[in-house]
Amino acid sequence: ALQAVCISHAFGGTQVLHDVSLRVEPGEVVAVTGPSGSGKSTLLHLLGGLDTPSAGEVWWADVRADQLATEQRARQRARFLGLVFQHHYLLEDLSLLDNVRLPLLLGDAAPQAAAERAAHLLDRVGLMDRAAERPGILSGGERQRVAVARALAAQPRALLADEPTGSLDRANAERVAGLLLELAREERTGVLLVTHDESLSAQADRSLHLLDGHL
Ligand code: ATP
Ligand code: MG
Repeated sequence: ALQAVCISHAFGGTQVLHDVSLRVEPGEVVAVTGPSGSGKSTLLHLLGGLDTPSAGEVWWADVRADQLATEQRARQRARFLGLVFQHHYLLEDLSLLDNVRLPLLLGDAAPQAAAERAAHLLDRVGLMDRAAERPGILSGGERQRVAVARALAAQPRALLADEPTGSLDRANAERVAGLLLELAREERTGVLLVTHDESLSAQADRSLHLLDGHL
């Protein structure tokens, strides 16, 4: 499971998270809602090991993430977690297929298996016919579908998603969210999902609410 134990966090002298604990089981989809500035993105960054909490513990299964040195943390993150943010971070010089394949090649996947897995995921998000194209010419919704495929490529145990549909119109948001939840549930990936979209949080197994850094 993905777990936060009594996490607190401050930027400078300002405390933005207070004693937050949560646990996401494999296959479970948990939504995080709350007003702007309540600490949602900060919580996801800490759980993703992109920042270290001022106090408390972050666990990736049986690995204590917040105590790992940078390089070791990056290696464990690549094995344990997938990340999807509001604005995609696709590599513009790589084809769609190579973008999805990259996390597999950074892990231990054999090149042939990585190519097959990447093709399978691109197909699932409806973009296999465009596998050779560069991300730059895609629409926002198409790019987010590639981001979802890439985040799940290495079969992470958990997925962290920060407003993955936040920049999309209603129809595209529903398609991206539908794919994210469908693929994660099929593969029993735990999902922690920050969203302002009530129709999306309604599809989660549980919802958590953050208010001024308190869960
Ligand atoms: P939104 O819904 O607008 O994305 P959020 O719930 O994700 O908001 P956070 O981004 O987690 O909110 O920010 C929580 C608080 O921490 C805010 O007051 C913000 O200004 C502050 N904060 C976030 N990141 C930093 C940083 N790197 N340095 C200083 N303060 C920060
Ligand atoms: Mg945010």
